[in-house]
Amino acid sequence: MSSIPEIFGCNVFNETVMKNKLPKNIYKNLRRTMEKGEPLDTETADVVANAIKDWALEHGATHYTHWFQPMTGSTAEKHDSFISPGPNGTALMEFSGKALIKGEPDASSFPSGGLRQTSSARGYTAWDPTSYCFVKEGSLYIPTVFVSYTGETLDKKTPLLRSMDALSKTAVRFLKLFGNENVTRVTSTVGAEQEYFLIDKNKFDRREDLVLTGRTLFGAKPPKGQDLDDQYFANLKPRIAAYMAELDEELWKLGIYSKTKHNEVAPAQHEMAPIFTTSNLGTDQNELAMEIMEKVALRHGLVCLLHEKPFEGVNGSGKHNNWSMSTNDGQNLLDPGDTPMENLQFLTILCALIKGVDEYADLMRLSAASAGNDHRLGADEAPPAIISMFLGEELDAVLKAIEEDGVYKTKAKAFEIGVNALPSFPKDSTDRNRTSPFAFTGNRFEFRMVGSSDNIACPNTLLNTIVSEELDQFTEILEPHKNSEHFEDEVKKLLKDVLKKHRRIIFNGDGYSPEWVKEAERRGLPNYPSTVDCMPHYTDEKNLRILRKFGIYNREELTARTEIHLEKYSKTRRIEARTMVEMARKQLLPASLEYLDKLCTAIACKKSVGIVSKAEEQIAAKLNDLCDSFYDSIERLEKQVAAACEIKEVQKQAEFYHDYVLAEMDIMRSIADEIELNMPLSYWPIPTYSEIIYNV
Ligand code: ADP
Ligand code: MG
Repeated sequence: MSSIPEIFGCNVFNETVMKNKLPKNIYKNLRRTMEKGEPLDTETADVVANAIKDWALEHGATHYTHWFQPMTGSTAEKHDSFISPGPNGTALMEFSGKALIKGEPDASSFPSGGLRQTSSARGYTAWDPTSYCFVKEGSLYIPTVFVSYTGETLDKKTPLLRSMDALSKTAVRFLKLFGNENVTRVTSTVGAEQEYFLIDKNKFDRREDLVLTGRTLFGAKPPKGQDLDDQYFANLKPRIAAYMAELDEELWKLGIYSKTKHNEVAPAQHEMAPIFTTSNLGTDQNELAMEIMEKVALRHGLVCLLHEKPFEGVNGSGKHNNWSMSTNDGQNLLDPGDTPMENLQFLTILCALIKGVDEYADLMRLSAASAGNDHRLGADEAPPAIISMFLGEELDAVLKAIEEDGVYKTKAKAFEIGVNALPSFPKDSTDRNRTSPFAFTGNRFEFRMVGSSDNIACPNTLLNTIVSEELDQFTEILEPHKNSEHFEDEVKKLLKDVLKKHRRIIFNGDGYSPEWVKEAERRGLPNYPSTVDCMPHYTDEKNLRILRKFGIYNREELTARTEIHLEKYSKTRRIEARTMVEMARKQLLPASLEYLDKLCTAIACKKSVGIVSKAEEQIAAKLNDLCDSFYDSIERLEKQVAAACEIKEVQKQAEFYHDYVLAEMDIMRSIADEIELNMPLSYWPIPTYSEIIYNV
């Protein structure tokens, strides 16, 4: 391997390449577009397109594609070659500014939640110059947004970009209150820690449930799960190490700062964390990273599972969404700071977050909702479905002092939290609470609810919007006092008010404990265990109000999105249920009956020569009962799915899948798992949990 600096970003049309390949004035125009969102003029676009094309050809590209993130949950691409007819039967390689900027994929098959029927049949993709183009597998990838002809968003990136703009505007105005007159842009940042499972491809191929749904729908618990915690940070087995090494190299080539890799808590579970970047680029890079993870695995005879819950009984996978905001003059707005004024600014932003997370806990919760993630959240696993915030002891003490006009004591000294005397407090909270869904970790918040397979655009869009709203409210209150000598008093008064009202969202205890569920209820915090419980709140008036206010979604877009999520939930459950029925009928039940048959033959045989067969008879009787129940459950599940398909109303249908179909799936699984435990390995037609998760 060449050195890392040599290969890093070698397939990306990044800042350095741009500077090298573009004439000075063109580069300047492009930068303006990137920073201020000003449209590119045709001439600039043509020159840029040509330079990108030449660079892409040098890097082995023959095609280009507009790359976008529709509501399917994966990325989409359609490739066109650069080829165009030249004189005398020759071929030219051409690429215009127009083709760079705009594409028109046939969009009729992407989910739109009814938006396209009402507006226009087609959508178009538009280049997003704030993310970098890159070359992969012979194509130039152009990051784009995807909207309908009448401007409604059909993808996950458009709302994110809108929310980043909203946040920047409100934060810039807010920061002026604290003397930050020179800040012109505030950008939300994200570092997404990605968890995943690696299993052997041969085993994967023999499990229809994994192939079709990404998770195991059957499978008895192995004798050893994660009981010993001996997998977490354990040394890397050679096959895994080889995979991770190649993954790093591929990610580096694509300009992704893959930084940390380690084994996770569950057997066969691992993590990759990149260095954080802007939310926009971070979202694109996470989508890309997931794709590369899956592809590299195949080269090692492995399959990378990104599903939130591939295996029952061991931890599922999430994607810790580390979030902060940084200014164009280099401040991290969630860094406590060294001077009292910086601390006052930090504490005010912190209180804006506390207020926001409390008022919009439902939005936060539903930003991470999906059929797959339902198996983690609210299912005795990290983190719970109830939104709360963890701040750490130190910070909590500071806030208490503000709230109660009290004294904040550090080990060394006691401070009066008064005007001009906000203490500088320790920046890194040592106690890292792992059970909190939204935890302060020293200079950022870690939102731990996001599912491992999910696009991070939605949680970041909503987080940005919520913070925009609160900063905007704070600015309205504080701006009139900006240059007054009472400014700091006013800030303190505001913070005190906010803390009094919203302290309930702060919880530093064990988020997994049953006591917390009760305590949260007492505090009046919402608890939405499943997707069908939280999704309807997307369109609650208070949520619609802020989403409209900042131009993120209009009512139609929001309704459409809610529908898409619920439809996806129903479809996922339908596919899972049908896969179960198919595996049960074609594999599991026949295998069980075959073994039963064998036992009965043996019993009859022995009887004819006067031998009593205790073991066979006991197993046969038990298996016979189980097979009967199994059969009944298959019949019931089929009927439930048929009944679900009849329901027209989207929310009702999703609820039915949750209440009846999923419930029957659970029953069927427990019967099948019991059968598995009574069957010889040689008769069981699909790889067992032990074979799958301990085999790499
Ligand atoms: P841990 O597993 O201990 O929580 P990791 O090192 O695995 O921590 O991941 C932390 C993530 O947080 C990294 O992706 C890191 O780049 C990111 N991060 C650090 N600072 C910021 C910030 N200011 N904004 C967003 N993300 C950040
Ligand atoms: Mg980590």
